[in-house]
Amino acid sequence: MSAKIIDGKAFAADLRKKIAAHVDELKSKHSLTPGLAVIIVGHDPASQVYVNNKAKQTVEVGMNSFKFELPETATEDEVLALIDELNNREDVHGILCQLPVPKHIDENKIINALSPAKDVDCFSPENVGKVAIGLPGPVPCTPLGCLMLLRDELGDLSGKNAVVIGRSNLVGKPMGALLLRDSATVTTAHSRTKDLAAICKDADIVVAAVGRPEMVKGDWIKEGATVIDVGINRVDAPEKGDGKTKLVGDVEFASASERAGAITPVPGGVGPMTIACLLANTVTTACLANGLTPPADLTA
Ligand code: NDP
Repeated sequence: MSAKIIDGKAFAADLRKKIAAHVDELKSKHSLTPGLAVIIVGHDPASQVYVNNKAKQTVEVGMNSFKFELPETATEDEVLALIDELNNREDVHGILCQLPVPKHIDENKIINALSPAKDVDCFSPENVGKVAIGLPGPVPCTPLGCLMLLRDELGDLSGKNAVVIGRSNLVGKPMGALLLRDSATVTTAHSRTKDLAAICKDADIVVAAVGRPEMVKGDWIKEGATVIDVGINRVDAPEKGDGKTKLVGDVEFASASERAGAITPVPGGVGPMTIACLLANTVTTACLANGLTPPADLTA
């Protein structure tokens, strides 16, 4: 069997079109323009690229984008004061502080200072709790993107055997919670899990979020399973020339796609969904802040 390749880039582009249509409607019917504020502290080049990308896509879907660049030397109090100001601004519905922040700033203090109503990365304990019990609110972006791809591919996830490999607060745990909400039977695997291969062989859905290049082998995959590869790993690529590198996922793509029914590539699978879901979360929080029901197709 040769797997269908799930095109996350195309799916994310469609999702952005849907977001733009919802934003248009919010503007015309409710005079509401969702706004996303991004804070960046310091000059980490990779963070600059992420932040610029987020700002560009925010504007493209018709939302307001606010960018706050603080110097590497900004104090923790200065960052907290900015967050406080943004928490109180009516035109800002989502706030994110690009991580990592410089070492002299306590990341947890930053996360805790964000108003849960504007925490579009869904880091706050309040929002994590809402995801667990199924209340409306922002949903962690990467797992939300994976869930959308899975629903699109499989329709009803009810009763499917799902294995999530990884239990991070950012990806693995919320992914498990979302699959459970969709009535999948969920196993969460981690570094202490015994015989992961056997667990995967029984799974209709495998979500790999480990951060280990090509750890999940093709012969672990059940015939016809749907494989979502969250991992992004940069490895040497001598075949491309001296000193060249390439990105690979956590799944051995070539062999897994011989057995899977559908699989996400790396790059071009889950990655593009993450920013699109950040924008979706901003529409959700803007709606909730204004007593409106968030669009069902933008959330879990
Ligand atoms: P973390 O490092 O926070 O978590 C990794 C998880 O993998 C841990 O729970 C760990 O278990 C588990 N693990 C490690 N080794 C093994 C093993 N041998 N067998 C089974 N489980 C193992 O990573 P993240 O969740 O933040 O990210 C995972 C990957 O996803 C990374 O490659 C990251 O770059 C990528 N990523 C991609 C995104 C995207 O937009 N596509 C967004 C976010 C992340 P334990 O808890 O026991 O240590």
